[in-house]
Amino acid sequence: MSRGSKQREAILRVVSNSTDHPRADWVYDQVRREIPYISMGTVYRNLRHLAKSGDIRQLELADGTSRFDGNTESHYHFRCEKCGQIFDLDVPVDRSIGERVAKNTGFKIFRQRMELIGLCNACQAKA
Ligand code: ZN
Ligand code: MN
Repeated sequence: MSRGSKQREAILRVVSNSTDHPRADWVYDQVRREIPYISMGTVYRNLRHLAKSGDIRQLELADGTSRFDGNTESHYHFRCEKCGQIFDLDVPVDRSIGERVAKNTGFKIFRQRMELIGLCNACQAKA
């Protein structure tokens, strides 16, 4: 395996094994345990490449941060405004909204995303 593909594999593994939608710098810290010489730029480049090829997903959140998701199935997210955690929501994706918009406007809908924002259970208990 080439050095480049070995790096990409390691980055993909870190993101795929995480469930908490990590930021790039967290991925960098994890991958560095395995490949100490890797640079932040290489991690960024590979994350973008993996997102483009559909192996992972890049989340551009409403709070302006960028996270990575190993769950490539279409799903909704909940973001806790207090602790910043992102949760996957186990509710079916409702395609009827996109279908209705496409019908009313003629727009072509490629994908849809939904981010619900509030307080997670742990933060509610602390409040
Ligand atoms: Zn919270
Ligand atoms: Mn997710």
